[in-house]
Amino acid sequence: MTAYQDSALLSFTAEVLERHGGLVERGEDYLLSVLPDGLSAALMLPEESRIGDEHTPLLYGSPLLDRVIGLATTTVPVVYGKIHVPYLKKDGFGQVLEQYPPVLGAKVTLSRRAETLASYMVLVCHYVALSDERKEGLVQVAASEETTAVIPGFEEQRRRFEFSVLQDPGTGTQFAERTENILSRVMKRASAMVEEDLSEFVSGMQRRLERDVRNTQEYYEALALEMEAGLSHPNLTPAQYTEREEKIAGLPAEMNAKVQDLLQKYSVKVSVTGTAALRLLVPVVLVTTQVEYRKQRRPVSFVWNPVTRTLDPRVCEVCGKTISQARPMEHKSGLKLVCPACWTGR
Ligand SMILES: [Zn+2]
Repeated sequence: MTAYQDSALLSFTAEVLERHGGLVERGEDYLLSVLPDGLSAALMLPEESRIGDEHTPLLYGSPLLDRVIGLATTTVPVVYGKIHVPYLKKDGFGQVLEQYPPVLGAKVTLSRRAETLASYMVLVCHYVALSDERKEGLVQVAASEETTAVIPGFEEQRRRFEFSVLQDPGTGTQFAERTENILSRVMKRASAMVEEDLSEFVSGMQRRLERDVRNTQEYYEALALEMEAGLSHPNLTPAQYTEREEKIAGLPAEMNAKVQDLLQKYSVKVSVTGTAALRLLVPVVLVTTQVEYRKQRRPVSFVWNPVTRTLDPRVCEVCGKTISQARPMEHKSGLKLVCPACWTGR
């Protein structure tokens, strides 16, 4: 122990950081850490830092330790912030709607433009998949808090902008809804991304399962044939004959038990843990339009996102999936904007 750290606190901190997606190298009286964005903001540490020296002491009562303890006791640390946009697009939205039609095959007319603040969440999740092998990884999902539509490119692009942490966002701000609701919705999105990430792993396990089941069946088929052939052996006593016959009769059950074991061995269990969340306010342009399709029309607002420099995707109004380009569908309750899979029109 030196004046700047305590070895028990170092190992505690290393464990908490790792659990929240950080990479930690343990020295004798320090830690070298590489932290994902949300985590480094939550701990107010640079992305790469040395913990336990005079610059970042780790002792009882030190602010860093308080933050690490806070992190260990909440499920997902949430950091609030605001992105500063030097310039918000003023015109040319008619052109944008023409160039990147947000609704395929419908007439979309611009009616007005208004500046507002939109909120987004960037969630970092750690996942572990256990089967015959183990796979783990991180997924990051950026989503609109209003619609939960996934915003591709947001997380990478936002780093180009100035960002300030909001210490106490308070109530009645643009972050009005309770964190848990938003978190669970975005977490669902992240789980879907994990599933995608794991699709190869899962199909790999499936292929091995099929291979092993096939080999097991072939083995037992061959065994049954061999044993049946053995029944005609001239020196068999009646007792031996009966015993072998019973063995043959028991083979299917034995094989089924082996197959059940294989199903167990190759089943995939996945756990996903949210490790850090960033909730961000971004000045955006609300582009209100009139969408017309056949005999139906309705106003639809799109969000021009200055971070990704494009219109935010929306979600399908039937299944909730993110869609960059919607399809119009006539409905007795009024015009709906849906994904290709939910589209039932002609
Ligand atoms: Zn859909």
